[in-house]
Amino acid sequence: MKDISLYIHIPFCKSKCWYCDFPSFCGKDNLMDSYIKALGKEIDAKVLQYNIKTIFIGGGTPTYLPLKMLEDLKAHIKKLNLTPNVEFTVECNPGTLDKEKLELLKDMGVNRLSIGLQAYDDSLLKEIGRIHNVDEFLKNYELARSIGFENINIDLMFALPNQTSELWKESLIKVAKLNPEHISAYSLILEEDTRFYDLNNKGTLNLPEEDVERGMYESLLSILKDFGYNQYEISNFSKEGRECRHNMVYWSMDEYIGVGSSSASYIESIRYKNVESVEEYIQKINTDKQAYKEKYKNLIKEDVEEFMFMGLRKTKGIEEKEFLNRFGKDIDSYYKDIINKYINVKLLKREDGYLKFTAEGIQLSNYVLADFLID
Ligand code: SF4
Repeated sequence: MKDISLYIHIPFCKSKCWYCDFPSFCGKDNLMDSYIKALGKEIDAKVLQYNIKTIFIGGGTPTYLPLKMLEDLKAHIKKLNLTPNVEFTVECNPGTLDKEKLELLKDMGVNRLSIGLQAYDDSLLKEIGRIHNVDEFLKNYELARSIGFENINIDLMFALPNQTSELWKESLIKVAKLNPEHISAYSLILEEDTRFYDLNNKGTLNLPEEDVERGMYESLLSILKDFGYNQYEISNFSKEGRECRHNMVYWSMDEYIGVGSSSASYIESIRYKNVESVEEYIQKINTDKQAYKEKYKNLIKEDVEEFMFMGLRKTKGIEEKEFLNRFGKDIDSYYKDIINKYINVKLLKREDGYLKFTAEGIQLSNYVLADFLID
């Protein structure tokens, strides 16, 4: 049986955060029960023929599901063939966790929690539409530790409205002092169809200037380094050996299977994307139809581009030998001029058989990566 990674999507949230364009919904709690039943059916039909090396239950807010539905999901998870050292992550949000749920997750085999804190400041949390405060986060974090979760990620955001550099540094230090094994930190991106997008169009969003945002990213790198975190991806930092193996699958373009509404799969160079509507997903599964709305075999050039976009996100970069093994041609046959152009201006470098960003290059990664599109 093939080893593969598994993503399970739970599309429900208690309320919608003001920056969020993820495929998640509030006010659809009445669909939870039929969704979990359909999800169980999709898991049984699609996943049992694989060995699962990593699982990531994301959303939405998986821990917003009531205990009974987490139990139902657990029954399907228990049927899976897991590799002995499986990494099993569940995303959770403060304010949706309690002792019973955490114990159930432990019993399900979950060995990694990813907690969405986003900001270590009550007024900022309110201003971005989060449902929790810092105190609730701290209680949930301590509870998770006391129940025995030894691998925890904390998600943070920067460049938020009204967030100063000082506030950001303080947040980082307070989070790092908690000593989680992993920290992810993303800058706010204004996405269409979010409350922030509308507020910004009306001119009422007080966002930090670009140079302040760059300074925030620099503080992120230096503060986390001081606390012993290793940056292994543009936005991800971990203690030694605690890199998120599931996300590494995406960045290395390995195969994964997704179940649930909006989930994506990548198997044998074919991309699948499930329908986004929760109602449509349930209806498709219940009538024994395929849940995907797109099935697309990547062209070689698309595989090459994605391999570059994803691989260069890793600080160790792309192994040139792996590129050759994968595509039968060396990396220069596709990108010689572009690589040399960015090596000359010190945004990329070649080192020990890897092509990677320099420290300056990471700051300008979006700009550089856009050049790796093949005409
Ligand atoms: S909890 Fe997460 S998925 Fe849900 S609305 Fe907020 S950011 Fe989006």
